[in-house]
Amino acid sequence: MPELPEVETMRRGILSASGAVISGVTRPPSPLRSILIEPELRNFRRRVIGRRIVTIGRLGKRILLELDSTDRIVIEPRMTGLVFLTDPPDRKHLRLVLELSDGNAVEQILFWDQRGLGVVRLVPSEDFDALLGPAKIGPDALVVSAEELRLRLQSSRRAIKVALLDQKALAGIGNLYASEILHRAGVHPEKLCHRLRKDAWQRIHAEMLVVLHDAIAHQGSTLRDGTYRIARDAAGSYQFHHRVYQRHGKPCTTCGRAEIVRIVQAQRSTFYCPKCQKK
Ligand SMILES: [Zn+2]
Repeated sequence: MPELPEVETMRRGILSASGAVISGVTRPPSPLRSILIEPELRNFRRRVIGRRIVTIGRLGKRILLELDSTDRIVIEPRMTGLVFLTDPPDRKHLRLVLELSDGNAVEQILFWDQRGLGVVRLVPSEDFDALLGPAKIGPDALVVSAEELRLRLQSSRRAIKVALLDQKALAGIGNLYASEILHRAGVHPEKLCHRLRKDAWQRIHAEMLVVLHDAIAHQGSTLRDGTYRIARDAAGSYQFHHRVYQRHGKPCTTCGRAEIVRIVQAQRSTFYCPKCQKK
């Protein structure tokens, strides 16, 4: 499932479409059930065709195409969605095409999604806060300060691993990177937020930035299912740098003395080293 580094990699991959004008919106023929597109396609087309893409941004795990009308196209890849300019892995799972004109050599933005759980929404600026404003989505994990991270979570009675996944508190962290961040910070994933000391919050924040920047530099993590791609024939490479995620039963590469353990928290797998991350 794409998290902040994967979505940021997709965003960077389509940046050259910035400045282009949307000349068409099509849903390629497919026997599959359509993804959720809001508003319905006719309305969507009416509001975006002829509009220029002013900026291509990101909020947590979403890509935002801001138009010169101040509407934003919000692309949410969810489980298996991918955003490309060319060469999707196949045509069958191609869900939406934004055709572009002028600007540069870029001709289209493609949204491909194997499982079809992704969502594409056109959000007028007056509705943006109600849907995606600070009351709905926390600050992006790349921009939140250590102090703000601590203040947002320190009174929570949830386990730190579970709290890090809460997009209302912090946007962009998912199951994979939460385990990696806590491992590097030396914090046990079951530790309750309100029991964490100030220095632990500082380590979590510092390691969060290290892990996210490193993962972006490696263009994200392509897992065994191979769904996440940076291009048709290319994968991300941060999976070769994971220290705990899906490494249960293998020796810890940080301490070399314990085996990585898998537990389940809030129905999701967590991986950690019992030696490096003491309770
Ligand atoms: Zn260890």
